[in-house]
Amino acid sequence: MPTVITHAVVGLTAVKVLVPPPVRPRIWLAGILAAVLADLDSFGLYLGIPYGHPLGHRGLSHSLLFGLLLGMLLAAILLHGRPRQEQLRLGLVFSLAAMLHGTLDALTNGGLGVALFAPFDNGRIFFSVTPIEVSPIGLSGPALRRLVTVIGSEALWVWLPCGLLMLVSVLVRRLRRERGQT
Ligand SMILES: [Zn+2]
Repeated sequence: MPTVITHAVVGLTAVKVLVPPPVRPRIWLAGILAAVLADLDSFGLYLGIPYGHPLGHRGLSHSLLFGLLLGMLLAAILLHGRPRQEQLRLGLVFSLAAMLHGTLDALTNGGLGVALFAPFDNGRIFFSVTPIEVSPIGLSGPALRRLVTVIGSEALWVWLPCGLLMLVSVLVRRLRRERGQT
């Protein structure tokens, strides 16, 4: 998996690019939660659920369907009382952030693949290109040293594109505003 920080960056980017400002704090929070929650399944390893099990790490919780449902659930909980249409629109943004979690993991170069199409197909897959260094699950000894390499890789393959996307979205919005004023 990429580190939790990198998944959070992807969630923030989805919100920044797709939700017009001003963005309320709970919407930022939902974007982050949607992007990171799938990795709670790694605690299953400590509960005796094997990595390769359908409910194991990178299993069902990393699937596209789970991501879709998680985003909608977060919208229903955190935007409770808001108009249905707003919940649906923002729920789709959170769903995208959640679905990008498994997609990003399938671009890493280690661990087992990702059950992107669970529960219909529990097969674990990687994409044909896997440029992102896989992050260690624990944080001790060699794992900590490896983390430096991992963060460098994530900065290049995830943070940089996310930063560029955010910059473009800011520039496009500014341009639209200026055109609207003329
Ligand atoms: Zn993951």
